[in-house]
Amino acid sequence: MRETAAAATPDTAQPSADRPRAPRVIAVDGSAASGKSTIGRLLAARLGYPFLDTGIMYRAITWAAIQRGIALGDGQALSGLAASARLDVVLPPPGSPDAARITVDGRDVTADLRRPEVEDAVSLVSRVAGVREALVQEQREIASHHPIVMAGRDIGTVVLPRADLKVYLDASLKERARRRYREFAAQRPDVTEEMVLADLRRRDQIDSQRAVSPLRPARDAVIVQTDGLSQDKVLRRVLALVEALQ
Ligand code: C5P
Repeated sequence: MRETAAAATPDTAQPSADRPRAPRVIAVDGSAASGKSTIGRLLAARLGYPFLDTGIMYRAITWAAIQRGIALGDGQALSGLAASARLDVVLPPPGSPDAARITVDGRDVTADLRRPEVEDAVSLVSRVAGVREALVQEQREIASHHPIVMAGRDIGTVVLPRADLKVYLDASLKERARRRYREFAAQRPDVTEEMVLADLRRRDQIDSQRAVSPLRPARDAVIVQTDGLSQDKVLRRVLALVEALQ
């Protein structure tokens, strides 16, 4: 597996007057629809860092498993797939509003990652130790090349335990379901807010109860409770944490 940074890495970039000199590695963890990707992307753009939402890697392996007809209970086959599939993560230039793209064995699967069948299966694939081992290794490799904001479930606890700043975003299940529903209500008129809530609850349960790298805040993470807070307020709160470290 390998990663491509689509732009010059900001390792050597001079901080501009309005850009704080920030911690090099920032972990943003949290449950499904807690705002990790949105806040992570905005934060990375402010700092001039690339942003990686590691959920796309678990989704890409899940997509590949479905394509190959691998049973979701077959941990050995799933681990073998994660170890052998060639995943390429293409990070957009720092500051770009675009999300990272990902290919599996040369095929760009970015557009398939939010398909309902992937959504249904991803937590089951992600609980397999061999799958996590392969992807965590890759995530560490990516973070070793340049400053980064990385979002996921286990970034602060397992992937980058020495991250300079660890943020754990949290919000009530109801609030998260409301936000997620609003995001795709227009494209999926067949889905109700109750269905979204039930799916988030199911995924949270699997993610937080799995034996390997369960979803939980790192001991040194700052927990940001986002119920009732606008995106802008959450971002300002996280930026204040960044500034406090300088
Ligand atoms: O963040 P997103 O909803 O795209 O993640 C999809 C799934 O991938 C999560 O429900 C979780 O099972 C898994 N995941 C994980 N560890 C990460 C990122 C995602 O287990 N670091």
